[in-house]
Amino acid sequence: MADIIQLLPDHVANQIAAGEVVQRPASVVKELLENAIDAGANTIKLIIKDAGKTLVQVIDNGKGMSVTDARLSFERHATSKIRNAEDLFQLNTKGFRGEALASIAAIAHVELKTKQDLDDVGTAIIIEGSNVVSQDIVVTPTGTSVAVKNLFFNIPARRNFLKSDTVELRHVIDEFHRVALAHPSISFALYNNGSETFNLPVSNYRQRIVNIFGNKTNEKLVPVEEDTEVLKISGFVGKPEFAKKTRGEQYFFVNNRFIKSAYLNHAIASAFDGLLKSGTHASYFLNLTVDPHTIDINIHPTKTEIKFDDEHTLYALLRSAIKHSLGQFNIAPVLDFERDPNLDTPYDYKKADSKAPKIEVDRSFNPFQEEQQSRAKAIAYKKEPVASWESLYVGLESKGNNSKQDFTEVRFESEEQTASIFTDENQVDKTNTTYQLHNKYIISAIKSGMLVIDQHRAHQRILYEDFLKNLTIKEAVSQQLLFPLRLHFSPQDIVIIRQLKDDLEHTGFVFSSFKDETVDITGVPVGVPESEVSIILEQLVSDVENEVPDSNFSAADLLAKSMAKSLAIKTGQSLQKDEQEHLVNKLFACKEPNVSPTNRTTFVTMTVDELDKKFIL
Ligand code: ADP
Ligand code: MG
Repeated sequence: MADIIQLLPDHVANQIAAGEVVQRPASVVKELLENAIDAGANTIKLIIKDAGKTLVQVIDNGKGMSVTDARLSFERHATSKIRNAEDLFQLNTKGFRGEALASIAAIAHVELKTKQDLDDVGTAIIIEGSNVVSQDIVVTPTGTSVAVKNLFFNIPARRNFLKSDTVELRHVIDEFHRVALAHPSISFALYNNGSETFNLPVSNYRQRIVNIFGNKTNEKLVPVEEDTEVLKISGFVGKPEFAKKTRGEQYFFVNNRFIKSAYLNHAIASAFDGLLKSGTHASYFLNLTVDPHTIDINIHPTKTEIKFDDEHTLYALLRSAIKHSLGQFNIAPVLDFERDPNLDTPYDYKKADSKAPKIEVDRSFNPFQEEQQSRAKAIAYKKEPVASWESLYVGLESKGNNSKQDFTEVRFESEEQTASIFTDENQVDKTNTTYQLHNKYIISAIKSGMLVIDQHRAHQRILYEDFLKNLTIKEAVSQQLLFPLRLHFSPQDIVIIRQLKDDLEHTGFVFSSFKDETVDITGVPVGVPESEVSIILEQLVSDVENEVPDSNFSAADLLAKSMAKSLAIKTGQSLQKDEQEHLVNKLFACKEPNVSPTNRTTFVTMTVDELDKKFIL
């Protein structure tokens, strides 16, 4: 048989390598920024079009490349940064694999211009899908400009796989932040679709953080400083009271390289033990300096993971350094974290205007009419719930649970009796048909058996449909705030909120002004407590950033989902009887009561048959 093994041509090998190095425009941003830093630049500009899908360009004033180096830089395993394997353990550079430019050139149109300081003219090279299209002598400033256009032009599957511009831009900005935070002594600028989004002058670390995340950040930072033989820690953690629901602002650098480490993240979280509200995450901006011999950054192609020789010591040192700082800056636990949910206003009443209690005297009171009267009252009061309850049965019956039949099939005398009482009760008195279990589930008797509802998911569904309706018919009622509410966000969060302004207004929000870092709100949707507004918007921003937009992605839908998630009653909240009933009724008035907005089961049923089976023995 003929030989079948072939060596892959270079451009194919490069495309495959590109799959590991370049997942999205942000990966290109990372590689190009890192190359600029390695080249010793102190001014770096990043230019983006269409979230990087059309263009990612990095211009630096670093040392540039000679003609030969310019051409060689696109070869695979071409690097100036290591010569042998030992060099891997003394790395002071970001790159070392010599793969980035070769990979990027395999899947995009690349234009390189570069000049070294002592040369009069520089080199321009154009490469498209690994093919060198042209190489010229050009007049260009000292340093390097790499423009990467039409990413994945020759791999449509990957291009289609890219997310919306909002999501991709978020990744690009994240990457930009990571690099900029690790290098405050370099000035960075980011231009997105022609406008300047960030301009970060050379500064100290604290100023760099503030320049990126907004002036409000300054007061939130607690310095952390620790210098030991094995490890130097410097940076800041966020004060616990500013902890966020999302993990957004968590930055961890090892020898100026952004690193993800669940283990060390845990060390930080544990230093905050008892200081954070549940479900919130502290921000941190921490730099660790360790001997390059004690780490291995070679384990991951995108170089964001790292192996430490002695993780346990690092863990302990990090934890105690942060604890120490928090203690020193007098950040003591706040007392009211564990609120008793029973003391909260039930969600149903939060919407209601407060009413002064009043005494009513019924002058026509006739004790002999009592019975009739109270019966009439009961009927009037129960009218609406009864109607909705009927609809609940309709929905369930359509699933083939015809209860009448179920009960006629019951064979044993004693059970027959129970069954008839059960039905009677259901028809006559509905006040005792719900029961709350573990502040989590609402149990309700229905004709065919019982219904178990997840209160959090069910309420999400109800709110979601409400919000969606408001967004569609654009008739939401807004509740005027006595004093305008000023909320602080980072400039890029403001951009997102601004994009959603129209939709937010359709839910009932009223915005009076947008500034770079603040937004003033004068009205909120009816039923939304003022205290929740910042959490809702924060959650919304993070949802927009992380949403995987499918074909029917719409801002309105996302907004409705996000607000429903923020506002739904939580597991653990105890509900009054009438709240429980209200929840059940509202759920079954929904278009899709069976699932939460994120497609999770909202209720399960158990028929009497199924219960009977459990009692067979
Ligand atoms: P690596 O960074 O791992 O060495 P790259 O493919 O990213 O691999 O780059 C290959 C080589 O091209 C680098 O080692 C460097 O010598 C050169 N190079 C890339 N970008 C620049 C730049 N902006 N300025 C100067 N030299 C650069
Ligand atoms: Mg590189």
